[in-house]
Amino acid sequence: MELNVIQPLPEKFQPLWLSQVGRYALGVDWGDHHHSIYSFDLLRSLCPCKGCLEVRQKNQTFPPAAVQPVEIRRFPGQGVSVKWADAHESLYGAEYLRNLCPCATCSEAVQARHQNPLGNPKG
Ligand SMILES: [Zn+2]
Ligand SMILES: [Zn+2]
Repeated sequence: MELNVIQPLPEKFQPLWLSQVGRYALGVDWGDHHHSIYSFDLLRSLCPCKGCLEVRQKNQTFPPAAVQPVEIRRFPGQGVSVKWADAHESLYGAEYLRNLCPCATCSEAVQARHQNPLGNPKG
């Protein structure tokens, strides 16, 4: 049997602290001192499960209880879980969540990657 060595995620993908931002958003502080803010609406729509994916694909909106978290839990080195008022539970891998950070800096980086997928220097 092969030994399965699990390395810790880089600091960039370590959620260190979760906080509520205003009434409708979750703040995440990452190991590299980056701060992300996900509105609950966005957070629910990022749920990677099949059911939520279907809602997105059909362009339906989530009912109010579906965007009202009742419990948010951080799993060090792994990710974040959210229990919603409609009894749904979402699990977000840390890497997945960080890559979807909606802040200007991160979305610019994503766009740059799309335009220049191999990351080659310009010119
Ligand atoms: Zn879901
Ligand atoms: Zn960001």
